[in-house]
Amino acid sequence: MNDGVINWDEEKVVFFFGAGASKPEGGIITNQLLEESFRQFPRNNKVKMVKEYLSDIYHNNCEISNLPTFEEVLGPIDIALQKQENMSPKWDVKKLSSLRDNLIYCICSVLYEKLQNPRGYHHDFVDNLLTMYPGRWNKCSFISLNYDILLDNALTKLGDRGASNIDLNYGIRFRNEKHRRSRHQNDDTWSVPRVKNVPLLKLHGSLNWIYCPTCNSIKITPKRKGIVDDIFKDSEPCDSPFCKDGASEQKPIVVPPTFTKAYENPFLVSIWLQAEKVLQNATRIYFIGYSMPEADIHIQYLLKRSLFRQNGIHPKIIIIDKKNEHYSENDNDENMDENVQENMASKGVHDRYKRLFGDVKYCPIGFEEFAGNLEQYL
Ligand SMILES: [Zn+2]
Repeated sequence: MNDGVINWDEEKVVFFFGAGASKPEGGIITNQLLEESFRQFPRNNKVKMVKEYLSDIYHNNCEISNLPTFEEVLGPIDIALQKQENMSPKWDVKKLSSLRDNLIYCICSVLYEKLQNPRGYHHDFVDNLLTMYPGRWNKCSFISLNYDILLDNALTKLGDRGASNIDLNYGIRFRNEKHRRSRHQNDDTWSVPRVKNVPLLKLHGSLNWIYCPTCNSIKITPKRKGIVDDIFKDSEPCDSPFCKDGASEQKPIVVPPTFTKAYENPFLVSIWLQAEKVLQNATRIYFIGYSMPEADIHIQYLLKRSLFRQNGIHPKIIIIDKKNEHYSENDNDENMDENVQENMASKGVHDRYKRLFGDVKYCPIGFEEFAGNLEQYL
């Protein structure tokens, strides 16, 4: 890599994960989520409601092709909810609110089904990173925009390794967390991270977090995707001491990157603040599987603010994009004949990063290659 290997004594490294990192594990990109949920769960009532909405408001008969993207559907719903306006007499604020939950259900269920048996690249990545640099855990931070728990599971495994154990730290407190030696530990409790821990800051929420808006607490369902099991399948009410005897409905914390301000959840506010601090101290950021889409205006804002350096020495930006062996920055149209579309996509991502950050290192090698051969890229 042209800007040299990491100088671990001086550097702090952030690994910033986007949906492209989950794709090689069997995941799918966000604009296929709706389509996939219609295909997989055609008779589910929540899915049917989403279809009905698309038919009424988008005049889309939900044939599998040319559906609006998940964000295109969610954006206007969020605006309507924020303004407390109805979309139509039938789709009033109350109905839009359950529609929003059902849309989230669609994407959660698809991710749940698709990522049951990951291929293990996240495990390779974490394993290689901390085997190669065992004492450097305190130089690494992880930020993820993904709701899935692939990276979480890979990092959680580090805590179960005996003497060298390192805990995963989400940066928030859970109502079912216990100290590691507590006798009340069981599969459903979460251990408070010990001193040796690595932050994983999930800016858009997580499939294993369940939020109670009554007592303002989050429960974590370790190593499984609680949103799908507990909320959507069983509608389990909140079990905190405060809510226990009532029937407080729990909600997912899954915030898609729409234009509206959806980051008001107090736990997410705290996570965003911590992400800002981590980025302020970073000397090097690896963007993995993240194309920096225009819709993610909040992310761009966060990055712009926290990567500014008074001394003019900017953090190094390295982009690990999906594999494209034929990509060359200087390709002109004649050389692009065979792989035009692929190259256009790569060029689009590369150009966008250059526009936003100036000098960047662009590596279209895929997360698989990066995870398996870290020594070549760190
Ligand atoms: Zn509660």
